[in-house]
Amino acid sequence: MLEQGHDDDICIFCIEPFDATEIDIEPEYVDYLSEIYTSTVTLKCKHTFHINCFIKYICHNYKTTLLNKLVNGEIINCPTCRNPITRMFFFKILKEYIKVLKASNKKLSNRIKNYNKTITITKIQHRFKNVLNKPIYLEDLRNLYTLQKQSKDLVCIKENIRYRIDLIKSIRFESSML
Ligand SMILES: [Zn+2]
Ligand SMILES: [Zn+2]
Repeated sequence: MLEQGHDDDICIFCIEPFDATEIDIEPEYVDYLSEIYTSTVTLKCKHTFHINCFIKYICHNYKTTLLNKLVNGEIINCPTCRNPITRMFFFKILKEYIKVLKASNKKLSNRIKNYNKTITITKIQHRFKNVLNKPIYLEDLRNLYTLQKQSKDLVCIKENIRYRIDLIKSIRFESSML
């Protein structure tokens, strides 16, 4: 959060209250992505939005011209009151957004590590059973496949977030070169 105090309790983009306890994403991913979906940004005009919704709006509205606009010192406006958002403040928001993305990525990394540990252990157990001529049940295999699939899903989400971080960093980098 960049500034304290805001006029609204609902994000105008997703129409969700800021203190919503239920987030509209796949329940198994809520733990990892909650920061991304619940962190807010308050502009100088006191209008508040979910930071993720706000960035999505900016990307959609300003498309490829965003960089040009920033470079030329053109103005990005508050989606609600059209008050200008200064370039410096906008970069502050991007910095905050990167922080939020990184927090989720850290959680994802830890979970993936745990998944992989469990997968390795499970495989070793299977190998032992095999050597000892003990039966491996369909259930055992199914559990292993589920674990592998879940781990793979999380890796995909993580890569997607990583991509977003890199993209945002490149915007900041290019504009600070000028
Ligand atoms: Zn929202
Ligand atoms: Zn405003």
